[in-house]
Amino acid sequence: MIRLILGDQLNRYHTWFSEQSEDITYAFFECYDEATYAPHHIQKVVGIFAGMRAFASALQAQGHKVHYGSIGQTLPSLGENLQKLCTELGTQRIEIQQPDEYRVQEHLLGLRENGFQIEVCSSEHFIADVEDFKVQFSGKKTLLMESFYRRMRKSTGIFMQGAQPIGGKWNYDASNRKALPKGHSIPPRYFPDTDVSAIVEDIQQANIPTIGSLGNPKHFYWPTTPEQAKDIFHYWLEHDLPFFGDFQDAMARNQWAMYHSRISFALNTKMIDPLWVCQEVERAYHEREEVSINAAEGFIRQILGWREFMRGAYWMAMPDYEDLNYFNHNAPLPSWFWTGKTKMECMKQSIGQSLDHAYAHHIQRLMITGNFMLLAGIDPSEVDRWYLGIYIDAFQWVEITNTRGMSQFADGGWIATKPYVSSANYIHKMSDYCAHCPYDRKTRAEKNSCPFNALYWDFYERKEGQLGNNPRIGMVYRTLNKMKDADKVALRERARWIHDHLENL
Ligand SMILES: Cc1cc2nc3c(=O)[nH]c(=O)nc-3n(C[C@H](O)[C@H](O)[C@H](O)COP(=O)(O)OP(=O)(O)OC[C@H]3O[C@@H](n4cnc5c(N)ncnc54)[C@H](O)[C@@H]3O)c2cc1C
Ligand code: SF4
Repeated sequence: MIRLILGDQLNRYHTWFSEQSEDITYAFFECYDEATYAPHHIQKVVGIFAGMRAFASALQAQGHKVHYGSIGQTLPSLGENLQKLCTELGTQRIEIQQPDEYRVQEHLLGLRENGFQIEVCSSEHFIADVEDFKVQFSGKKTLLMESFYRRMRKSTGIFMQGAQPIGGKWNYDASNRKALPKGHSIPPRYFPDTDVSAIVEDIQQANIPTIGSLGNPKHFYWPTTPEQAKDIFHYWLEHDLPFFGDFQDAMARNQWAMYHSRISFALNTKMIDPLWVCQEVERAYHEREEVSINAAEGFIRQILGWREFMRGAYWMAMPDYEDLNYFNHNAPLPSWFWTGKTKMECMKQSIGQSLDHAYAHHIQRLMITGNFMLLAGIDPSEVDRWYLGIYIDAFQWVEITNTRGMSQFADGGWIATKPYVSSANYIHKMSDYCAHCPYDRKTRAEKNSCPFNALYWDFYERKEGQLGNNPRIGMVYRTLNKMKDADKVALRERARWIHDHLENL
């Protein structure tokens, strides 16, 4: 029998590995198709292959039988490689762990039509049950993360005191929105250090097109083993968690990770366990005075709440979700999204660091790049393609729900209760970007006015038919209605100019 291990299934603690048998071959394939279905960042491809290679070596060292297909030696698709290995081993039996992505699930289950016996088991990683999620939200026009999150807190007992939430409140989000004070310096971060030169060479020889840069291949700084993932997490827990709460939404020039944990890649490839992460944060809260309740709860909410919620939403809505486009947006993505060459400082910083590090933190993804894409009316499929490729942690189940759902409102408000858009006011409040930008954040309709300003008001004006009844944005429409006609005309003209010159901003 073959047991297939995908690049995002690097869970060393899966019960599969508690038994050893000569009849079981663990199969890993680095495939061209998987490395190229979106224009992936070089660090993402390297990180996944490095994680797979380290995992395969660890299994071999434990005495398991392993077949490893390196890039350059494999056939393009997973299915072709599996069929070839089945023929070599004289078996039709393949066990897989439940894939996280619909595309991969369909591809693998499709092998049944060729006579292969495919058995599916749990990946033993996620905390929530997808079927329960479907029951909880069946028939609902809007999913409410908060109600899901409370259920998760109750069912796991995480951050609970008996039947009540610790501290008496479920959610401390309102305390997590401080900007960095002037002169605040962020201490140096901890990075793992792995030599990935051989993998980079293999990727180049296999002609895999990639985006972004890698830095020095002798010092790759994303985790490639569970030990490294735990090291990053523990360093963050000790040094950064106390600041995470207050500054969760803050942004600063040349600070690409702020106080964020950078564990999404390790989580999404299953190198570390999400429940364990939440338990460690809860323990830190109980043991250390400097860990505030808003820091601990804020972090637990991201994992026990948002991450599990997005997975439930994904499996409830796919495959139709891929085609949703509530606003019928169809503008092409400006080419500077692939280079970072724009005058807008906030976009230059957020895109530049994404190309350099395959990473941007949540508020940059949501309130800088995503905000701009929605206001500019970019086709959501182009938006998905960009996010899916550029981030090291991007796998469709958690990318598309955040992108099409939370960020682009392409599902008409199923995941997010309002569009996440803002003018320069918010960006200025939460960052130092505007102070270094040639655009004027204070004006709306001048030649050098910040593009976000005119786009923001024009967006709401044009979408009144689709958004006007939303109680969460009543204030916006009240302000818009009070605006003088001449101001509205000027805003419309400036917005039109920006839409026509997206390439030149
Ligand atoms: C447009 C957009 C696209 C995104 N695409 C992805 C993606 O492809 N993959 C991905 O893992 N996350 C995605 N996110 C969510 C979030 O931005 C990243 O999880 C986070 O930035 C990862 O960095 P971190 O580990 O330092 O996170 P931290 O801020 O330290 O948070 C800790 C963990 O919480 C989880 N988390 C936080 N927010 C979310 C969320 N909204 N949805 C799901 N999990 C969350 C992540 O696992 C993260 O590692 C996206 C968000 C937006 C707005
Ligand atoms: S002025 Fe506008 S474009 Fe410039 S950094 Fe601020 S929000 Fe971004």
